[in-house]
Amino acid sequence: MRVGIPKEIKNHEYRVGLTPASVHDVVVAGHEVVVETRAGTGIDFDDDDYRAVGATVVDTAADVFAQSDMIVKVKEPQPQEVAMLEPRHILFTYLHLAADKPQTEGLMASGATAIAYETVTSPNRSLPLLKPMSEVAGRMSIQAGAHYLEKEQGGRGILLGGVPGVAPAKVVIIGGGVAGLNAAQMAVGLRADVTIYDISNDRLAELDTHFGNKIKTGYASKAAIEAAVPNAHLVIGAVLVPGGAAPKLVTRNMLKTMKRGSVLVDIAIDQGGCFETSRATTHDDPVYVEEGVIHYCVANMPGAVARTSTFALNNATLPYVIQLASKGPDKAMADNVHLAAGLNVSAGKIRHEAVAEALDLPF
Ligand code: NAD
Repeated sequence: MRVGIPKEIKNHEYRVGLTPASVHDVVVAGHEVVVETRAGTGIDFDDDDYRAVGATVVDTAADVFAQSDMIVKVKEPQPQEVAMLEPRHILFTYLHLAADKPQTEGLMASGATAIAYETVTSPNRSLPLLKPMSEVAGRMSIQAGAHYLEKEQGGRGILLGGVPGVAPAKVVIIGGGVAGLNAAQMAVGLRADVTIYDISNDRLAELDTHFGNKIKTGYASKAAIEAAVPNAHLVIGAVLVPGGAAPKLVTRNMLKTMKRGSVLVDIAIDQGGCFETSRATTHDDPVYVEEGVIHYCVANMPGAVARTSTFALNNATLPYVIQLASKGPDKAMADNVHLAAGLNVSAGKIRHEAVAEALDLPF
């Protein structure tokens, strides 16, 4: 099969669908790879790096689409990309269709087979192609929080780990899934005083076993969160209600009880955010202040560490890219129900029930 890698065109997106190392493995598996010129230069993969592993480098995205059977990307296709899709194409990328009717209708009109990273499943019921980005965002949340706690950034002037004779900062993590666990790992590494709240008792037990006495855990009742927030210096929001909007767990009234210069990082902002006062921000202008508390609500945190994120994403996507290229989409999905769960649109129809339901379109 001919696999195409266009340059990402969404604002400030430097990630790329396949690294040169991944291209190498796709070529070894017997496929051709076509890469748009400068597709990886934002993260230091030059055209020659791709040529060295057997890819053909072409001048435009139109050349990539014209010469490929499968398009591998990172972000959802932009309108000019959707316009280049044809019924013969397989599109493999993040789509997030449930909140994007125009894109869904565009993909339906194209006739292409669109497989979304975020709905591919795994035997343990996790979402393996979403997981790496939650790991990145979780780890970054502590870096961002530590930065904005600095006085020069408008923060309270607190070092997360304290020093001998001075207590560490209190970090409250709400939601102890993939992002929450990774946030906790970083916060523990910096010697902060960490408490994780979750509504899943099973998850709290796993976290307790994993971290031992390095963290505290709490059941995420309204009362517990209300009691924890006034003392916290850094609150991380990392909840996920699959397929639904994030619940507002920290209200404006709770915010008023926090110390000035404390920091909230709302990782769940891509699902609407889990703090009442959250609104999505960008890497250009990542923070704002409400009730004296700094809010960091960047909806695409992994974009800031595009090189790490690209490697992490490729580690997860490469086996599926090779399955799709080697077997063709029909056989690859017939053989692998978890990959089949990624199918969102094909031959003009929505193939994912939750997407159809969310958009009120026929399934
Ligand atoms: P996950 O499913 O692994 O974990 C979510 C956790 O939240 C679960 O343990 C669940 O029990 C818990 N939870 C659900 N409702 C809760 C409540 N009311 N109170 C407390 N805990 C609750 O999800 P994840 O992969 O860690 O993702 C977390 C969030 O981060 C998602 O919204 C995801 O979309 C988002 N995310 C954002 C970025 C970004 O750049 N901003 C990047 C990656 C992921």
